[in-house]
Amino acid sequence: MEFRDLKTQYLRHKEHMDSSIQDVLFGTHFISGPQVTQLEERLSEFVGVKHCIACANGTDALQLALMAWEIGVGDAVFVPDFTFFSSGEVVPLVGAVPVFVDVDPLTFNINSESLENAIAYVLHHTKLKPRVVVAVDLFGQPAEYDKIRMITERYGLLLLEDAAQSFGGRIGERKTCSLGDISTTSFFPAKPLGCYGDGGAVFTDHDEWADRLRSLHVHGKGGDKYDNIRIGLNSRLDTLQAAVLLAKMDFFEEELAACEQVAERYTRRLEGAVQTPHILENRQSAWAQYVICLKDTEERGRVIANLQAAGIPSAVYYKKPMHRQVAFAGKQVEAVSCLETVSLCERCLALPFHPYMEEEQIEAVCGRILGEIG
Ligand SMILES: *Cc1c(COP(=O)(O)O)cnc(C)c1O
Repeated sequence: MEFRDLKTQYLRHKEHMDSSIQDVLFGTHFISGPQVTQLEERLSEFVGVKHCIACANGTDALQLALMAWEIGVGDAVFVPDFTFFSSGEVVPLVGAVPVFVDVDPLTFNINSESLENAIAYVLHHTKLKPRVVVAVDLFGQPAEYDKIRMITERYGLLLLEDAAQSFGGRIGERKTCSLGDISTTSFFPAKPLGCYGDGGAVFTDHDEWADRLRSLHVHGKGGDKYDNIRIGLNSRLDTLQAAVLLAKMDFFEEELAACEQVAERYTRRLEGAVQTPHILENRQSAWAQYVICLKDTEERGRVIANLQAAGIPSAVYYKKPMHRQVAFAGKQVEAVSCLETVSLCERCLALPFHPYMEEEQIEAVCGRILGEIG
């Protein structure tokens, strides 16, 4: 069994994918080809945001956002403790200090009480200036933006939505990638909308920030790339990846609907026996992952081994809280304790999940889990 079956996806849509890729090969406009602009227009329309800037990957997208806001030395950036390394990695990269915040044990997303405590700590006990909250839509579910907005407005902070795992998700009619002052996503192959390599994008309604982002992702260009008005990055999305994404957008909604079905099947079988994903009302997850929580590390170990014995892959996202990553030693402010994150890292388990999963496969996974935990 595949954890995320990209091969079946390709085979189902082979002709469409091949012809989109072929167009680029014949056109030989491999960097900044017309497909890149087409994709940016298509994505900004899909998301409902004025500007989309495609870039090289989701990590650069986050860094570009911080650079556009001129976040740097002396600034504090608040990041959930339970997320992929990138969400925090970009903070010291621009010279600022990450402050990790605990998450909600049911939604896995940033906890607004813990966030407010962390901001108060930074204000009263450090010389840092609180500037940005990074809200991550973990495993595909949008964070609680109504609560987070109240806090960012109260303290005059900028809101950066890390939607690397949630492209296609929604709160009511509002799509992810439209929920931050700037929002970013990733097109890493295993993400909800994945290309055939690395890719990412930045979204904003703000004209001036968009101009800066367009400059920053091409060597800080002015009029053209030989006129350089700021220090930037080389972070373009290449044309082949844009063509792959344009083709995939044609069946993306179908895949989202199929993911919803797979998630419902899993939940129906596992509910009550283990902690199943808790999706808040009026929300649509993009289902980057289907993550359950076991009682403790010992039980999780038994479940992993039992699945493995049947050739079923599973994965632990994430093994380590951000505040315990060696890379942040001496570079972070430890403002609040992140006990929920510590506990989730010990108990969570991601199951095989993709839109092409058959009912029998879901049944096989659930049977193994229910058999092990009795
Ligand atoms: C994947 C991911 C990223 C980084 O995306 P890349 O395209 O791999 O650089 C950032 N944040 C989160 C939450 C992610 O899951």
